[in-house]
Amino acid sequence: MTKKSQLARLRRNLGDAVSTSDEDLARCSLDSARLPFRPDAVVRPQTDDQLQKLLVLANDMRVPLTPRGAGSATTGAVSPVKGGWVLDMTSWDAIHIDATAGMAHVGAGAVTKKINDAAEAKGWFYPPDPSSLKYCTIGGNIATNAGGLRGAKYGVTRDYIYALEGFLPTGEPVRWGAPLKKFASGFNLRDLWIGSEGMLGVVTRATLKLIPKPQARWTCLAAFQNETQALRAVKKLLAARVVPSILEFLDRQSVDCAQRRRGAPFFPKLKTCSLLLLELDGHPAAVRESKQIVQALFKERALGSRNTTDPEKAETLWEARRTCSQAMFQMGDTKLNEDIVVPIQSYEALLRYTLELKKETGLATPTFGHVADGNFHVHLMYDHGDPDQCTRAEVGLQKLMEKVVELGGAITGEHGIGLAKSPFMPLQHTKGEIAAMQRIKDALDPNGILNPGKMFDEFIMWRHPRDYAHTFPWDHR
Ligand SMILES: Cc1cc2nc3c(=O)[nH]c(=O)nc-3n(C[C@H](O)[C@H](O)[C@H](O)COP(=O)(O)OP(=O)(O)OC[C@H]3O[C@@H](n4cnc5c(N)ncnc54)[C@H](O)[C@@H]3O)c2cc1C
Repeated sequence: MTKKSQLARLRRNLGDAVSTSDEDLARCSLDSARLPFRPDAVVRPQTDDQLQKLLVLANDMRVPLTPRGAGSATTGAVSPVKGGWVLDMTSWDAIHIDATAGMAHVGAGAVTKKINDAAEAKGWFYPPDPSSLKYCTIGGNIATNAGGLRGAKYGVTRDYIYALEGFLPTGEPVRWGAPLKKFASGFNLRDLWIGSEGMLGVVTRATLKLIPKPQARWTCLAAFQNETQALRAVKKLLAARVVPSILEFLDRQSVDCAQRRRGAPFFPKLKTCSLLLLELDGHPAAVRESKQIVQALFKERALGSRNTTDPEKAETLWEARRTCSQAMFQMGDTKLNEDIVVPIQSYEALLRYTLELKKETGLATPTFGHVADGNFHVHLMYDHGDPDQCTRAEVGLQKLMEKVVELGGAITGEHGIGLAKSPFMPLQHTKGEIAAMQRIKDALDPNGILNPGKMFDEFIMWRHPRDYAHTFPWDHR
């Protein structure tokens, strides 16, 4: 069957839900990894019935179908690498807060920040907070098991899902779990869907767990002579059983570029430093108790610190963390943003390695991270127009991944595999583990139509042209 006749049949069945406009095809050809593959159509089903029809048609004609939320994935997970159709779920954006049950009933396309705003308006709290929360959808969060700054204290998306509704790749409607606080019936396929990167089913709706909104918050920014000093303070804090809601670490490269952009140091007497940004939240008495431990420790170990309970003043303490990511583009026009995880014993070894990598590759390696859970964002900055820098970035990335695994860590803690990390799957998993995952994929998606070409097929992103002209709403350099 030709693509033309496939499209004609799609249009006959789904009518106005189908778009082949240049704008839609271009927008849905890529995500933040900028690896474009043009689909043949973008489909926006409005009802369960339409979505089911779409899946049945895709199976019948063996057309690849790539589910898509906001397209903020950083791995190429939403690039339709095998062509076919893109399933745009952004219009499934209903949000209903059940303030009695402490649950949110949401559509897959609901934007994460809007869910938390709606929960907070009723005194509740939805903690998972990926940095992209103003844009990304809960469907994308579920499919990548997104985490965020509050992960160590509050957990990640997986910890807040009671139930998922949607469709198997073959079109059968399913509900995994239930809008109940306990559910122990059958295999737990809900957890199998979470983090499956749109390859095992389409999420249409979710029931999320909410928790009471914390009453008190205390924010503190502390400066240290170098990475080692900052990371040793982290170990002491965690060993003292302080559980910060946020504990962000910034190495000197990250601080330096944020300071250059700002035109002044964050601590007037310190030309350079490594920073820790800490937030405590919860019951006022518990916050007070932990605050005393933190202050005593920072007094002994930090070169300086500032703190506040005032939300507006806290924003000023956040400046370095909020600006460093964009400020890194002073060091290269392209960023590899890796989201690796290492155990606490390896924190210092990892940071030493980022400096070795900087020397070896001649590329900047600014690193910040959520240090209470070992999730570091190691960046490799390079100019995409310089083939020599691209080669050095490619080699540097391979070495970084090997080092992470050697240190007992994980190649990804937030973003998932998609296309960009597929070459590193064998570093993380045995052949037997990968084969078991593939058997599950084959059982649920026998025609291989849902988000094919990801995770298991080795994709060498360096051989594929990237689209640097496209701008995303989150690009504000
Ligand atoms: C500036 C920036 C900051 C970021 N910070 C973080 C962070 O702190 N933590 C973090 O975890 N990630 C982060 N990310 C990555 C990204 O935002 C997350 O992976 C997010 O969960 C993706 O949501 P999305 O709606 O954009 O999904 P998309 O990018 O559209 O899709 C992501 C994956 O989900 C699948 N999918 C989407 N919707 C559905 C559905 N309804 N059913 C089935 N599968 C579906 C897609 O097929 C794809 O595999 C960041 C990205 C950017 C650009």
